[in-house]
Amino acid sequence: LSQLYGPISGFGSLANSLFAAGASAERIIEVLDTRPDVTEPDDPQPLPRAAGALVVEGVDFRYPDTERPALQGVTFAIPPGGRVAIVGASGAGKSTLARLLLRQYDPGGGRITLDGHDLRRLPLADLRRNVTAVLQDVLVFDGTIAENIRWAHPDASAEQVEAAARAADLHDTVVAFPDGYRTRVGQRGRMLSGGQCRRLAIARAMIRDAPVLVLDEPTTGLDAASTERVLAPLRRLSHSRTTVTISHQLLTVSDADQILYMEHGRIAAAGTHTELLHDSPGYAELYRLHRSEASDGSAPDGTGETG
Ligand code: ATP
Repeated sequence: LSQLYGPISGFGSLANSLFAAGASAERIIEVLDTRPDVTEPDDPQPLPRAAGALVVEGVDFRYPDTERPALQGVTFAIPPGGRVAIVGASGAGKSTLARLLLRQYDPGGGRITLDGHDLRRLPLADLRRNVTAVLQDVLVFDGTIAENIRWAHPDASAEQVEAAARAADLHDTVVAFPDGYRTRVGQRGRMLSGGQCRRLAIARAMIRDAPVLVLDEPTTGLDAASTERVLAPLRRLSHSRTTVTISHQLLTVSDADQILYMEHGRIAAAGTHTELLHDSPGYAELYRLHRSEASDGSAPDGTGETG
């Protein structure tokens, strides 16, 4: 699956350039988070901290200059603290839906609300405080580990940084480096393995402490040991937070209260894993495919990273 930040790829190096130019973490976040077509509302409705009720109502979406809609009539609701997994074949619309939840794009029709507030009416700073993502392609810039974690919350104290790293199972790794939290991670995080980068992203999400999480299955491409080390902190992170997980490997679906199976931009079926296996031939086929890939013993995208 293409990363959620696919349309703005190249931002890792942009983050590094901004950092090298002495830009503040806030400024880097602002640049990275903002798309030119997503603007501050004229009539903002402040929402400093949401309970986390997320409602998607009849959402349609078409990318600019394309014929086919990427989403059609997508409707679902998640209560505060609820967990939904989104599954489906390549091109079904999973990443597009996640981009709309992060307000990288706005719906063409319908609306998305958080605690009853249309996302388009939230001040952008409130949106970022309330909705955060852990993606496969972690943006790491060439600062220290502490700076990279603090990126998500520039005012965080050293104690808060360490607490987030502990919760993300990253602390022991960090203190094993000679310079500890002051270790420079190198451009694009060369010093860190794939699994360590994902745990860095989890530490950032912990420290940002948003009530709504969008996860682009952050275990993709990791081997079994690294996956386990990412899954445990992810469970801690999503505990009591509204969580939407884009699931490629159907690994994390067992944690979900509800699974949405997407086909051609629509939700074709919704239910628990057992219900979907029984009721949705498309889901059953996808599950069968993933099981046979998993029993090959190969990492699904063949990268087989460790760490
Ligand atoms: P995958 O698992 O392969 O990433 P997906 O379920 O996440 O698939 P999306 O990436 O959301 O699917 O794509 C949904 C549809 O929108 C597809 O037809 C895709 O070709 C199209 N699409 C995705 N991104 C763009 C884009 N930036 N511009 C134009 N069309 C796009």
